[in-house]
Amino acid sequence: MSCIFCKIIAGEAPAAILYRDEQVIAFRDIHPIASTHILIVPLRHISSVNELEEADAALVGHMALAAKQLAVQEGVAGRGYRLIMNTGPEGGQSVFHLHMHLIAGKSARSLLG
Ligand code: 5GP
Ligand code: ZN
Repeated sequence: MSCIFCKIIAGEAPAAILYRDEQVIAFRDIHPIASTHILIVPLRHISSVNELEEADAALVGHMALAAKQLAVQEGVAGRGYRLIMNTGPEGGQSVFHLHMHLIAGKSARSLLG
């Protein structure tokens, strides 16, 4: 298994895990770009948004709801945050296991201008 997120899910690589249920796991990004930077990751290996199918619609919705809950937990829901899914090399994706970034805090504001 070469996928780093699959290794984290399997407990074979360390991570600061904040949340886990039957569909997703959430852990802190190892190189945070803002004071809150969390990754919401499906337990099932899907490479990117490009590989999503109609049957995955509920899973993606579940990722967004997990992100919303984590934003409350982190105390950033009121001030706001960004949810980002980088896709493909020119979309800035570096880990090819689907994930949603939850980014909040002062430096999150300048991300997209
Ligand atoms: P991408 O660039 O694919 O949208 O995002 C991948 C993210 O995963 C990056 O922000 C990177 O810092 C994070 N990352 C890469 N390897 C690891 C790891 O081993 N552990 C954790 N917690 N985050 C990682
Ligand atoms: Zn994987």
